[in-house]
Formats: sequence, structure tokens, C-alpha cells
Amino acid sequence: MKTAVIGGGAAGLTAAGVAAQNGADVVLFEKNERYGTKLRITGKGRCNVTNNCEKEAFFENVVSNPRFLYSAYSRFDCSSVMSFFESLGVPLKTERGNRVFPVSDKASDIADALINFCRENGVKMINEKVCDIKKADRFKITTSRKEYVFDRVIIATGGLSYPRTGSTGDGYAFAKSLGHNVTELSASLVPLVCYEDICGKCQGLSLKNVTLTAVDSKTGKSVYEELGEMLFTDSGVSGPLVLSASAHMNETEPGRYKLFIDLKPALDIKTLDKRLLRDFSENKNKDIINAFSALLPSKLIAPFMELTGVPHDKKVNSVTVSERERIAELLKRLPLTVKSKAPIAEAVITRGGVDTKQIDPKTMQSKLVPGLYFAGEVIDCDAYTGGFNLQIAFCTGYTAGISSAQ
Ligand SMILES: Cc1cc2nc3c(=O)[nH]c(=O)nc-3n(C[C@H](O)[C@H](O)[C@H](O)COP(=O)(O)OP(=O)(O)OC[C@H]3O[C@@H](n4cnc5c(N)ncnc54)[C@H](O)[C@@H]3O)c2cc1C
Repeated sequence: MKTAVIGGGAAGLTAAGVAAQNGADVVLFEKNERYGTKLRITGKGRCNVTNNCEKEAFFENVVSNPRFLYSAYSRFDCSSVMSFFESLGVPLKTERGNRVFPVSDKASDIADALINFCRENGVKMINEKVCDIKKADRFKITTSRKEYVFDRVIIATGGLSYPRTGSTGDGYAFAKSLGHNVTELSASLVPLVCYEDICGKCQGLSLKNVTLTAVDSKTGKSVYEELGEMLFTDSGVSGPLVLSASAHMNETEPGRYKLFIDLKPALDIKTLDKRLLRDFSENKNKDIINAFSALLPSKLIAPFMELTGVPHDKKVNSVTVSERERIAELLKRLPLTVKSKAPIAEAVITRGGVDTKQIDPKTMQSKLVPGLYFAGEVIDCDAYTGGFNLQIAFCTGYTAGISSAQ
């Protein structure tokens, strides 16, 4: 059985190695010279490889089509992924939020382990870009160099995010040309563009231990609230809290979502007021702008003061009660308005993809084209941060690999 795997990322490397291990004659096509290019930059170069969690927690973290993944997950769940990498010689550790990383903190160890796994099982690795797939009796694959014929094809070309890593959406075109539906593609886990100019003024400033709340102004309901880290960009906000919040924003109407930053989540409003009174009494003869150094990062002080409406040079001892209340309120609920999500190229993950209704969840085989399989981000499945997206890539890759070899 000659099998082609298209795409040497997390899903394709897993699928290729597993298919070869199970007896298939496998060729892996990757258009980059380096395999696992995106894998190497995951988790800020540390690769949050999976999540050391129970089954229920995994499915709670899958946003799109969790049920479709039941079978693949049960074949290759989080603990199987961990044992797999340990068996390939990559010791792992579990950090906050059950996030699993290599002990070395090197994403390249994960990519290299998968490459070795493929080589050891006899996968033939070819650095060519696949341009076209046609199906007659067998599959005819046209690459940038020549034509090949296969019995099975696994499409593992990734999504549309970070196109410089090679994920340029080619798999969607292949799937469509073979008769499949591709659901609407959009960005998830993506920075947010905001209207307020405080973002640009504080560009590069990272806020730690703040609470971010995202509110859908149409329903008035909070769609996300979490304590953690975020940062200001030239046009909005980013960082772990913001990326996660973005996954809860389905509509992209400008102005629909409001963000509120609690800069002092450990203090309730009364305690915060007491703290302000104390700080103010210690600085009573100073200009108000000089009374915040213990309370806020220096880059944030001037833009924050502008929002309060209190003149910078007002003496602390003449600040009114209502001005102090306004300051406290803004410290607890600094508002931002989301204009849009940043472009999909800046997203961690693509939402949408090959329609799961047209894929057999037990095998990852197309229901329309026998012998054709899908794995990884190209499928319409996405999850929150925490190692869940790679877990999807690994379990769908494993399932496609093993079932295509049978
Ligand atoms: C910055 C960043 C950080 C991330 N961090 C994490 C993390 O820590 N944990 C986590 O769980 N998830 C993380 N993700 C998400 C994770 O990287 C993806 O879920 C995962 O890489 C998807 O794997 P894949 O194999 O489906 O696609 P990819 O990894 O994108 O691989 C697809 C491969 O196919 C190749 N290809 C495409 N078209 C062709 C073609 N025509 N011919 C030949 N080859 C082709 C591409 O070059 C690419 O190498 C992160 C994503 C980004 C962008």
C-alpha cells in the first residue's frame, strides 16, 4: 500500500510515522526544507505539547466539533501522547494548568523526535510542494517537480495561520477539488484590534496578574473572564488572556465586544479606595501624576491619567472624592472596545476547515473519496490554548496513520 502524507507538521509527521510503523510504504511531502516549522515555534519555542488532563477536560476545551474527536481521542489521548514522546526519548514535565512541555523547554526536541520516528520507520521524506491531487483508480499527485501515484493520501497541510511556516491553506483547495465542503475560515486565538489609543501609547507593555473580562454588548453577557497576563500592541491587545478571549468571540461586528481590565484584582473596590487614600496622604503635596508609581507600571500612568480626566498637575490634596472614585473605578475596570480580530495570519489557530460531516470520525477517512484521509488543523476542529490544538493534531494524525495502513 503506497501512502502519501502531505504536510510535515505535527499531524503529518505523526500520521506518516504511524502508517509506516503499521506496514505502509509512506512518502511524506513537505514544501519547507525543514520539517515541523510551526511546531518549532509553538509555546514560545517551548512547545506546549498536550495537556495532562482527564478526558472531560479535554473535550471542554475543544471549541469546534468536539464530538467528532471522541474516537480519535480515545485511540490516542493526552496520556498516550505523553507516553509516546517519552518513549521517543523526550522527557516531559507538567506545568500550571496541566500544560505539558519538554523538560528541555525546547520545541525543536518534539519536532526532531517526530522526524526520527518517521526515519526509523522508513518514511521517505521528500521536500516538494504538492500542487494538485487527482483521483481515478489511484491518486495522482503533482508536485512542483513531478507526478507520483499512490493508493492512499493523507492531507495534513495545516490551516491559514502563520503562513510563513508553510501553512497557506493548500489543503482546503485540495479538499474542495475532491468534492469536499470547507466551512467558513476565521481566526481564533488571535490578537485584538481596539479603538482606544491607550493601546498604542502603551505598546509593548505587559500586564501580569490582571483579570480580563470580555463582554458581548449585544447580550450584556460576559463571554470570558480570567486572571493572567496580557500586553498592549500598537493597535490593540495580545498575550495569553487576549488570545483565549478571542476564541469566545464569534461575531466580528466592530464594537460588539468590550474588554475590561481589572488592574488590581486582589483588591476589592473598598480596599482599593483605602489604598488610594493611603498613597495620596503620603504624596499629598505632589502632582497627582506622581502619586501612582507604586500602583501602576510607569508606561501606563500618563495614558491612565488622561482617561480619568484629572489634570496631570493637579495637587493630590485637592483631588475630589468623585475624582478618587473615578480613579478606583478605572483601576478595577479599564475599558477597551474591540474593533476587530487581527488578521488570520497572526492567529494561533484557524477556525473552520474540512467539514467534519464528510469525514469518518473513526478513521479520518473521507466519506466521499475512499482512500483519502485528513489530519490536523485542516479539519474543522479547534480548541483553546493549553496544548489542546496539538493534541488534536496528534490524535487525528495517529488515527489517519493507523487506519490508512489497514
Ligand atoms: C505561534 C504559535 C504557537 C502555537 N503554540 C501552540 C502550543 O504551544 N500548543 C498547542 O497545542 N498548539 C499551539 N499552536 C497551534 C499548533 O501549532 C497547531 O495546532 C498545529 O501546528 C497544527 O498541526 P498541523 O500538522 O495540522 O499543521 P502545521 O503544523 O501547520 O503543518 C502543516 C505542514 O504542511 C505543509 N504544507 C502545506 N501545504 C503544503 C503543500 N502544498 N505541499 C507540501 N507541504 C505543505 C506546511 O509547510 C506545514 O509544514 C501554536 C500555533 C502558533 C501559530
